[in-house]
Amino acid sequence: MTSISGKTDIDWNAFAAALAPVETIAEPVLVKKRSRDFFWYSPILNAELKTCFGDLVARPKSLDEMAHVLATAHAHNAPIVLRGGGTGNYGQSVPMAGGLIIDTTAMNKVLEVGDGYVRAEAGALMADINAALADSGQEMAMFPSTQDIATVGGFVAGGSAGIGSIANGALRDPGNLMALTALSVEAAPQARVFEGAETLHIHHAWGLNGVITEVTLRTVPKRDWVGCMATFDAYDTAYATGHAIAQAGDIAAKLITTVDARICAYFPKLDGHIRKDKHLLVSMIPAEDQDAFRRLITAQGGHVDLMMTDAARQDMGLPHVFDFSYNHTTLQVLKADRSATYQQVGCPIPPDPQAIAALRPKLGDDVWMHHEFARVGAEIVTFDLPIIWFTTPERLAEINATYEANGFPVYDAHTWNVEGGGLKADYTHLAWKKRMDPKGLLNSPKSRFWDAVKDLTPEQIEVKGAK
Ligand SMILES: Cc1cc2nc3c(=O)[nH]c(=O)nc-3n(C[C@H](O)[C@H](O)[C@H](O)COP(=O)(O)OP(=O)(O)OC[C@H]3O[C@@H](n4cnc5c(N)ncnc54)[C@H](O)[C@@H]3O)c2cc1C
Repeated sequence: MTSISGKTDIDWNAFAAALAPVETIAEPVLVKKRSRDFFWYSPILNAELKTCFGDLVARPKSLDEMAHVLATAHAHNAPIVLRGGGTGNYGQSVPMAGGLIIDTTAMNKVLEVGDGYVRAEAGALMADINAALADSGQEMAMFPSTQDIATVGGFVAGGSAGIGSIANGALRDPGNLMALTALSVEAAPQARVFEGAETLHIHHAWGLNGVITEVTLRTVPKRDWVGCMATFDAYDTAYATGHAIAQAGDIAAKLITTVDARICAYFPKLDGHIRKDKHLLVSMIPAEDQDAFRRLITAQGGHVDLMMTDAARQDMGLPHVFDFSYNHTTLQVLKADRSATYQQVGCPIPPDPQAIAALRPKLGDDVWMHHEFARVGAEIVTFDLPIIWFTTPERLAEINATYEANGFPVYDAHTWNVEGGGLKADYTHLAWKKRMDPKGLLNSPKSRFWDAVKDLTPEQIEVKGAK
């Protein structure tokens, strides 16, 4: 079999035979499909990554099969990219060096439901984990808006926060990611358990620093959630109300999102359900907090458009309210117009509606704000995932500079290297890559620094990273 990627000189027929009895996919159309994620959100990443393909897909269904796949890749010096649901936004699971794609979705068992935690195989879908928790009266502390197709391993390796983060913090906050098991890529792959803060060596490392096979996450008591939508005349009032909800002692919100009215024009499913041309606040609150929520919205000059239990939502034929939050907001616009893109921007802490109001006119008509509220550590933080009407890289750079000059740090969504997005800014995490993947087979082109440190010992990398 010739190399689909054109980047490897491995005999992929022999390789596939060596993987038996593990399921493999060699059909070029299917391999190419599994070489993509949601990098096309970014026109810059799209241009750089759309012609990068793997050569073969393996789909192990047990720990033993996974170890066999990794040992075979090690023997052939085959580049490896892990893939869960393929919903990453930065091309994290695009095989830039060609090679083997390992699809984890057949390793999908929920292994244990305990009091305050759940343990699952890395390929389990988050929606399935939430469903498995229901009987025990629990739910996940947070999940990404992609829960129907994203895996828990992909969330831990590529995600950061989600629905629930306004109550329970980011994934990296102490107690949320309780433990994980990762396999090394060696002649005889070793399983290593990471607990507590040690999990951060592997979290958000985009599958460079070990192959996650099992994850233990914190769970919280299940509540009866009501999906809410309220509308406002001014964006900064919607934002200020979001902050007021986050601070309110009588509203235990699980989601708080604010969306510029111009973005809401791209939500056809909400036509007739929310007021037209108004700025939107999306929230999930416990059923018993509805009166307090209604009072607060009215006191802030807003209008409650929708308050619905899940059953009512289904009767009305509406999507989940979180389909209008996080990166689903961007997706709603992209469904209508592929010239839109987005950015990831931090905001002053504590949230400052006046700073948001002052920034809006400086950004220009091609930037439409959308904020998510979360807790990181004990603090209420917000971040902007604006819709940007892309014209040129230069204009994008100018928008970034305007944000930064006004005290809003940009965590660039248009970069394909793991050190570019903010959570793994230096060398240090690569010490764990050296320990877990000494040959550097796991997704190495995604690190800006790997080539510079790959011949050092893990300890030397740690010292260099600390400088
Ligand atoms: C519409 C939309 C909405 C989103 N909303 C959110 C959100 O609310 N919160 C959020 O944090 N993110 C969000 N994201 C980003 C993404 O969905 C999440 O990061 C998601 O959890 C990724 O899971 P996945 O299974 O699709 O991972 P993939 O995209 O398959 O993989 C992500 C990264 O993890 C690596 N990986 C996968 N499995 C393993 C493994 N077993 N071991 C080691 N590495 C592995 C991959 O190589 C890749 O680098 C969103 C994306 C989209 C497109």
